[in-house]
Amino acid sequence: MERLDAFMARANAAYYATHDPFRDFTTSPEITQVFGEILGLWAAVVWQQIGRPDPVLLVEAGPGRGTLMADALRAIGQAAPAFGRAVSVHLIETSPRLRAEQAKRVQGATWHDGLATVPHQPFILLANEFLDALPIRQILRRGESWQERYVDGGRFVEVPTDPVPLASSDSSGFIFELNEAALAFVEAVSNRLSIGPGSALFLDYGPEHSAPGDSLQAVGDGRPVDPLAEPGTADLTAHVDFEALAHAARKAGATPYGPVPQGVFLTRLGLFQRTGRLARSQPPERASALIEAARRLAEPNRMGRLFKAMALGARGISAPPGFE
Ligand code: SAH
Repeated sequence: MERLDAFMARANAAYYATHDPFRDFTTSPEITQVFGEILGLWAAVVWQQIGRPDPVLLVEAGPGRGTLMADALRAIGQAAPAFGRAVSVHLIETSPRLRAEQAKRVQGATWHDGLATVPHQPFILLANEFLDALPIRQILRRGESWQERYVDGGRFVEVPTDPVPLASSDSSGFIFELNEAALAFVEAVSNRLSIGPGSALFLDYGPEHSAPGDSLQAVGDGRPVDPLAEPGTADLTAHVDFEALAHAARKAGATPYGPVPQGVFLTRLGLFQRTGRLARSQPPERASALIEAARRLAEPNRMGRLFKAMALGARGISAPPGFE
């Protein structure tokens, strides 16, 4: 028997070590090159805002195939060469298989298992669909008692636990999710921002405000599957609780911005202008594919609303682009 977070951590480590996740699902950087390009330009503007530190670390957490970073660095090299010269790239990735993929697309990077070994220097951190992959706990109230979900032989079992101070008294039966790993990551980033210059940008899916409910989901072979069956064969994720993360960031001494719906954020950063410029130099079929890809990221009923952008900054620095 394993607590859900231990099960999820083990299942995802096995999954990312043995599978090409991008056969099972598609992420924004894999949908259009413009996504990584505009995040690179976002980082370039933030670098100006924080006083052009040189050197500066460009850190990515959970870089997948390395596509976002490759697209970002190409755009930075073209539009912000001084920033490009100041940058050293650090990738936080636990999967050896994905590290090898990243090395094909990003030259000269340094890899880390977590934030702890990333040097204490001015930094700009990017993370797309990273926090949703970190393990969650699920706790529910049954009458007067509190139960926590464990996994035993492919099924949930409930084990009595201490009350959690997150629910009102009429919440019987509702599931409350705690993402302690995501909170710890955001806290660690925020601690660094409380003592030195930097910024962080998280893009992920989840509601704007904390809400009870079971958001654990699994995708295997491109389809939704039972999250508890055959650990290691499916990608397990959960909604990101941006409100809880913003609270943790503020407590640790950073300033949170957003969350802003991804569609709003990317449109403010010029997703459609940049896509239009790129499309003009392409054959008609490729041009319409690029425009369709931009719409997929931005339209509210597609990835534009459920996905959100949240930034963290040091106190006293102006709001980063897209959060004004
Ligand atoms: N950002 C990429 C990939 C998202 S998938 C994209 O948008 O395409 C999640 C990524 O986080 C993968 O690279 C996975 O290996 C990595 N990851 C998952 N859990 C991790 C952990 N605990 N520590 C570091 N990386 C992790």
